[in-house]
Amino acid sequence: MHNLLPQLILTAVLSFHFSHGAFAAAPSRPNILFIVADDMGYADCGVHGSKDIPTPNIDSIAKAGVRFTDGYVTGPVCSPTRAALMTARYQHRDGVPDWVKKGSEKGLNPGVPTIADYLRQAGYRTALIGKWHLGEKEPFHPLNRGFDEFFGLLGGGRIYYQGLIERNGGGTDEYARLRRGREPVNEDEYVTTAFGREAVQFIERQQASRQPFFLFLSFTCPHTPLMAPKGGAANFASITDPQRRTYAAMMAAMDDAIGRVLAAVRKSGIQDNTLICFISDNGGPITRNSPNGSTNTPLRGGKGETWEGGIRVPFLMSWPGRLPAGGVYRNPVSQMDLAATALALAGTKADPKWPIDGVNLMPFLTGGNGGNPHEALCWAYENAGAIRQGEWKLVPVAKGAKAMKTGLYDLSKDISESHDLSATKPELVEQLKERWVAWMKDVSGEAAGDRTAIPGAGGKGDAE
Ligand code: CA
Repeated sequence: MHNLLPQLILTAVLSFHFSHGAFAAAPSRPNILFIVADDMGYADCGVHGSKDIPTPNIDSIAKAGVRFTDGYVTGPVCSPTRAALMTARYQHRDGVPDWVKKGSEKGLNPGVPTIADYLRQAGYRTALIGKWHLGEKEPFHPLNRGFDEFFGLLGGGRIYYQGLIERNGGGTDEYARLRRGREPVNEDEYVTTAFGREAVQFIERQQASRQPFFLFLSFTCPHTPLMAPKGGAANFASITDPQRRTYAAMMAAMDDAIGRVLAAVRKSGIQDNTLICFISDNGGPITRNSPNGSTNTPLRGGKGETWEGGIRVPFLMSWPGRLPAGGVYRNPVSQMDLAATALALAGTKADPKWPIDGVNLMPFLTGGNGGNPHEALCWAYENAGAIRQGEWKLVPVAKGAKAMKTGLYDLSKDISESHDLSATKPELVEQLKERWVAWMKDVSGEAAGDRTAIPGAGGKGDAE
């Protein structure tokens, strides 16, 4: 049944185009708006069934466009995912296999072009508002990585009311402090709200310009520290778990901010010429990596793991007039594809010196390509590898143990990865392992070393 759905979407799009010919006249190069949440649970939006946290504005992106049921990120933590979103390449190629630590000298390889570089070169005005987390030092600075404008933080997380720290003599945390460009700024607003405000102002500034824009709105919400906007938690008094109550108030603030940004797009009259993508950068942290009260139900696991709960995320895309409203796409896709789609829509291509792994999704959504964008998607994080091919997923069932083994799951029947079928399909297990090994060699290059067997798969890459 799943394979029929792209065809259904295609049918919807074709009929839409035939009956709304005026949209065909829309400029061919859309504005591109990426909105990224930080550590948001798969289940924590209305379109994924959330009952206790309303997200009408996030949901409105799905209603106006396409919801990807099997939308993945390439890593289960922040920096790796953001690296691949910026490059359309697996992050292992460019020096970000794990998150960039505070004070680190490392970051995303300054040699690899980002999509901001490409889009700026193609004539776009580019802005990053919010979290970067791809290197604190100057070579990695967003203004050196293709962005014309930057308002946000270079690090991975921060307190939500900056004034509480700095005005009380709390020093200057270079990792977390807010900047406009390179200059530190004071900010009295709740940070999530401030990021929304800055995004609205950026969109308003572009209104007078004929220049298309690329805006990367990168929230720190709902990453820890758990801190609700003043008075916000009172709206969720019915939630008894205090952590979840604060998380809900943080989510509501982000959804409100997104609502203001979407309103600015409509008010500017550019809604039919703006591609909007929404994802979370990784799954909700439910047991480790700073749990925040999120839920990934019915997915297993969470942030930091290669179970579905760590890597499958809310994944939405809208472009009124070009994408079907209320569409659902079920073949696996990756956040790298959002970058590749942006490049294609801008009419530009990646430098062949830096080949991309992402795939332009437009032909799969509107052009009649009913196939899979990817033959397989692979993961490698810490000591856990994983691969998804079609409906099959191979993943270690335990980490750090001497006797690790992999589990094989049929995600079409077992989204919760609870029935290990590896004993019944040994040939498929071997084929998936071989494919993962080939992928690992490819993305690791010279750095592959001994890491040439899927961790936990019984090869020489097993953990001791
Ligand atoms: Ca994150």
